[in-house]
Amino acid sequence: MTDDFDRQHLWHPYASMTEPLPSFKVDAAKGVYLQMADGRQLIDGMSSWWCVIHGYSHPELNQAAIEQIHNMSHVMFGGLTHAPAIDLGRALLNILPAHLDKIFYADSGSVAVEVALKMAVQYWAARGQSHKQNIITTRSGYHGDTWNAMSVCDPVTGMHSLFGSALPQRLFVPAPQTAFDQPWDPGEIEPLRQALEQHHHSLAAMIIEPIVQGAGGMRIYHPQYLREAAALCKAYDVLLILDEIATGFGRTAKLFACEYADVAADIMCLGKALTGGYMSLATTVTTAHIADTISNAEPKAFMHGPTFMANPLACAVATKSIELLLKSDWQHQVSRIEAQLRAGLSELKALPQVADVRVLGAIGVVEMKQPVRMREIQAQCLAHGIWLRPFGKLIYTMPPYVINEQQLQQLIQGIQAIVKGEQ
Ligand SMILES: *Cc1c(COP(=O)(O)O)cnc(C)c1O
Repeated sequence: MTDDFDRQHLWHPYASMTEPLPSFKVDAAKGVYLQMADGRQLIDGMSSWWCVIHGYSHPELNQAAIEQIHNMSHVMFGGLTHAPAIDLGRALLNILPAHLDKIFYADSGSVAVEVALKMAVQYWAARGQSHKQNIITTRSGYHGDTWNAMSVCDPVTGMHSLFGSALPQRLFVPAPQTAFDQPWDPGEIEPLRQALEQHHHSLAAMIIEPIVQGAGGMRIYHPQYLREAAALCKAYDVLLILDEIATGFGRTAKLFACEYADVAADIMCLGKALTGGYMSLATTVTTAHIADTISNAEPKAFMHGPTFMANPLACAVATKSIELLLKSDWQHQVSRIEAQLRAGLSELKALPQVADVRVLGAIGVVEMKQPVRMREIQAQCLAHGIWLRPFGKLIYTMPPYVINEQQLQQLIQGIQAIVKGEQ
C-alpha cells in the first residue's frame, strides 16, 4: 500500500528521506472515509489536520469548485478584483466579530501569521514607534512553519535550537496552566504581566491560539487566561493577534474559540477549515483603526502581496463552505461529538500509561506519559479501520463534523485499543 517512487523521491511532513515511516496511498475520499489503494476504507479522525469539516468530496463544494473552474481559476489580485473574493469577504464579515472588517487574503496559515506579524510591526512604525518590533507569546504554541511563524512556536517542540540565531528571538512566557474547566488561579497571569511591564516598549504584539493550543501540545486552557491577557495587552499598548487557524469555524463548539472569553482581537488569523479542506487559503483580518493607521503613513500601503492572493477557486469554495456550515446544525453536531468523545475517552484517564484526557468541542486528546510508537500505532489504525496521526505523547482526534454516531464509536474504540496497547 506504500509506493516506491514516493518513498524514494517525495519528502513528507517532518519526515526522514532515508528512513521514512510508511506513507499509505489514498485513491479517493468521500464523507468521513479515506479509500485506500489496497481497498480498505479508513474513518478519518484527523479531518486532514483540522480542515475537512463537511467531509470529503461534498457535492455542493464540488459543484462550487467546478462552476468556478469553468469561469476562471485564477487572476492576479493586484489591480483586479472578482466576485469570489467579494462574496467571501461578505460571508466572513457576516460571522466575524464586528470590529474586524478589513480582510487580507493569504495563501496558507503560516503566511497569514507572517502577515499578522508584519501588520503589527508596520502599525507601530506608522505611529512613529519603530522600537516596537518584537513579539511576545506563550510556550506550547504553534503558529506555522515559515521563519517568523516558527519563531513564535514553542521553542522546544518548534526545535528552535536547530535553527539557532538564524531565528528571531521572541519573548516567551509560560504556557497557560489552568485547564479549561478547572478553578482559575489568579497568580497564573503574573509572568505575562511582568513580561509586559518590563518589555512593552519593544513589543509590537502578543500572538496566541485562543483556548486550544493545537500542534504545540493539544492543551485546552482557561478562558480567564485569554481575558486577562487581552486586558494586559490593551493596558500596555501591545496588539493582540489571535490565531484561530485551527480553532475557527466551530471546532471548539463556538464559531470562534475567542467567544469563550469574549475578547476582541486586534488581528485574527483564519485558515485550515476555511475552504472545508479543499485547497489552501487563509486570511488575516484586522480593525479599521489598524488598517487606516498603516495606510495613512509612508509608504501608504501594507507591504505584502502573494501571487495567488484571493485565488478565485479557493474563495468560491470557501464561501460555499461557510454557507454549508451556517445552514447545517453544526452546534448540535459538534456537541454530540463532544459528548460521545467525553463518554468514550474519559475512562482512559484511569490507565497508568495515560497522563491526561481532554475534550472540547469536536476535539479529543489522550496524553500519554511516554512518547507513542508511531509505526505500531499506524499499523493498528489500519487494522481498526481508522486514520490517526499521533505526535509525541499525544493520541488525538478532530473528526469531520458529519461523522455519525456509529462511525465515531468505531473511531473511539480504535483509540481505546491503541491507548491500551501502549505502555
Ligand atoms: C496549522 C496552523 C498554522 C499554519 O497553517 P499552515 O496552513 O499549515 O501554514 C498556524 N497556526 C495554527 C494555530 C495552526 O494550527
